[in-house]
Amino acid sequence: MGQREEAIQLIRSSQSITFLTGAGVSVASGIPDYRSMGGVYEGLEEPEYLLSHSCLVEEPQKFYGFVKQLYHPSAEPNVIHQKMAELASHQRIKIVTQNIDQLHDKAGSQVINFHGSLYDCYCMKCGRSVAVTDYLKSDCHSECGGRIRPNVVLYEESLNSDIIESAIQAVAKAEVLVIVGTSFKVYPFSDLLRFKRGSQVIVVNNEALSLSGDYLMITEDATHFFEEL
Ligand SMILES: [Zn+2]
Repeated sequence: MGQREEAIQLIRSSQSITFLTGAGVSVASGIPDYRSMGGVYEGLEEPEYLLSHSCLVEEPQKFYGFVKQLYHPSAEPNVIHQKMAELASHQRIKIVTQNIDQLHDKAGSQVINFHGSLYDCYCMKCGRSVAVTDYLKSDCHSECGGRIRPNVVLYEESLNSDIIESAIQAVAKAEVLVIVGTSFKVYPFSDLLRFKRGSQVIVVNNEALSLSGDYLMITEDATHFFEEL
């Protein structure tokens, strides 16, 4: 049996699966993979600055102008999001995503949004939540004049400890861990594998990853793989 067939059988037969997903999962929904060349960052300033807390505070207009380009409110979940949501009807499925596009939520999954969500906005002055449609019109809160921001983890900001803890639990309790559509290089997300306890690991990505320990590497477009599940 090849690695691919082995991976499909493992996913079909396991009672408890945790998916760790990244930008590659949303490409087929029309959302560019912003960390790879040719993505939305090309020709612009460093994304590490444009998506940083410093930029938000010191050059809010630049931050706002950039962040607005990351919104794709009409994007729909693709076969990868849909299959993960379907599996949850008869298996214990957890999803931890680095994506901030909310497509797993849209597909009906319970998901741990490790880096927050673009579609959850609030006013930094009064703390009230603000509709995304309002934020996309202006980053100034009409009710108090404060600045609105999305609830995503920016560079220089730390992650919420409850979210880290629930992601660690999702990894520790899984029989099978499936890493999908991510180069798995962004810390601390990439550190989550340290918490696995004897689970088998499958990677589905269009480029091979080099991780420590044993895993099945399925080097192909994740949409093709998930279509067959
Ligand atoms: Zn306000």
